[in-house]
Amino acid sequence: MKKRVMTITFIICLATAATIYAGTGYFMKCQLAPQKPQKTDKPDKTTKTDKPENPCEYESQVTFGGGMFFNQITGYCCSCKKFVYLSWTKENLPAEMKDRIKHKPRPKPLGEIWNSKTGEVMTVYACPKCKGPFLEIKKLSDLKHCPVCNKSHFVVDKSKPRIAID
Ligand SMILES: [Zn+2]
Ligand SMILES: [Zn+2]
Repeated sequence: MKKRVMTITFIICLATAATIYAGTGYFMKCQLAPQKPQKTDKPDKTTKTDKPENPCEYESQVTFGGGMFFNQITGYCCSCKKFVYLSWTKENLPAEMKDRIKHKPRPKPLGEIWNSKTGEVMTVYACPKCKGPFLEIKKLSDLKHCPVCNKSHFVVDKSKPRIAID
């Protein structure tokens, strides 16, 4: 009997953790990739002068994936200028967990957009704060451009730890 109480307490702790820290968090920063070999050749005068793109050094923690009891999607809201998340309760939870977790329904997307250039159909969701549209970023490898300066320098800051929680 006592063991069962312990187990339930443990599950509740997990549930609380999953609510707050679902998924895997990465510290990301707009920075130049390290170990870029320096070119020694003289630049050709006929080509346009490529000034080195200066990364803006914007940094943010970005989380991907859901937790044990929650699904979560990630996006960037251009109006709020921050990464935003939508989460909802997983469908097939054990009955005893369903009673303990506050049920959050799956958010309804605002709609779908077809990209004629790539053929992709992209789902647009409403930002939880401003209700403006944002696109889901499905995985880390889909996040390449810095949301602030739009240069392709947005990478995981390897000097900081990756937070893996589930
Ligand atoms: Zn940037
Ligand atoms: Zn917003």
